[in-house]
Amino acid sequence: MPWLVRYPHRVPVLVDRAELRRLHGMWRFRRFLPLAEGEEPVTLGEGDTPLLRTARAGSRLGLHDLWVKDEGANPTGSFKARGLSAAVTRAVLAGAERFVLPTAGNAGVAAAAYAARAGVPVRVYAPTTTPRTILSQILAFGGELVLLDGHIGHCGSAARAYAAETGAVDLSTLREPYRIEGKKTLGLELALQLGWRLPAAIIYPTGGGTGLIGMWKAFAELRAAGWVQDSLPRMYTVQSSGCAPVVRAFDTWAEQCEPWEAPETVASGLRVPNPLGGRLMLQALRESGGGAVAVSDVELEREALAATREEGIDFSPEGGATLAAARALLDRGALRPDERVVAFNTGAGWLYRDPSGLPPV
Ligand SMILES: *Cc1c(COP(=O)(O)O)cnc(C)c1O
Repeated sequence: MPWLVRYPHRVPVLVDRAELRRLHGMWRFRRFLPLAEGEEPVTLGEGDTPLLRTARAGSRLGLHDLWVKDEGANPTGSFKARGLSAAVTRAVLAGAERFVLPTAGNAGVAAAAYAARAGVPVRVYAPTTTPRTILSQILAFGGELVLLDGHIGHCGSAARAYAAETGAVDLSTLREPYRIEGKKTLGLELALQLGWRLPAAIIYPTGGGTGLIGMWKAFAELRAAGWVQDSLPRMYTVQSSGCAPVVRAFDTWAEQCEPWEAPETVASGLRVPNPLGGRLMLQALRESGGGAVAVSDVELEREALAATREEGIDFSPEGGATLAAARALLDRGALRPDERVVAFNTGAGWLYRDPSGLPPV
């Protein structure tokens, strides 16, 4: 069972909201984060990503108030920067001398960059099927890359063995509590950007679940602080039909996810067949009144391509999945055309394109 951070002695109600406006990046929320007075974060300027109205994509899909939070604008090109900035910060303050991380792709890039920033070596275990550009970025930041046949679950076992043998700190999703804290800033920043009025619905491409669990924790903390009064957004998960353990569990009223056999999807961030945080994700989806939907790789790639061209936002396959999900959720009446919907483009599309050739035209 994963551990989550609680802050018994630092109630966010004490935070001066004006202070937030003077600061920048995700660490402007440091009073909501595991950082004591006088401690310095390991940072590359993550956060403050654009929240963009996407009227053209919205009208094509039939949503009149659709917004995209473009997490591809983070250092290393994905929202993984937020979690790893927080996790590396805490680990280094605790004396870590070596890191290890299993990844489906983007977490490896972020771990390599933040480890470099901290001056600590990192070993990254990734599947051989990981997009080449992502692998080359891990190497560019000096990560020690080990490729394995299989999926992130196999990489996780190898990482735990390496950690046991060397004393390396294992930065795996939900095996340490701080990546979630960094991901919380997705929700805090969204609230700040919308003037503390949360949207009606959020669509989030879900793999390990840190974004979903983190945002839901953020909204609970904002509510406890009295900063948001409205009802909280309905949270919708989207997964690829080639790897959809959360959708299957949601649809069958299960409390936990069952491992997905033979996970297969081009959206590498969604290729997580047996997420440790399954129970927490399902809780968040149900408490929020949201839901879960699977879309095919063909649909998610088509949406990523279309929206990248019509909006000038560099959509990853995972980001494309949120738009394909928006269409599906509208069709089944889960979304209404006039309500405010925020979709998360969790990473940049360029990370998935092959550097050795021009993209198809
Ligand atoms: C890791 C990743 C995801 C899945 O994120 P979780 O919050 O762990 O569910 C989605 N999209 C991209 C681009 C990712 O890198």
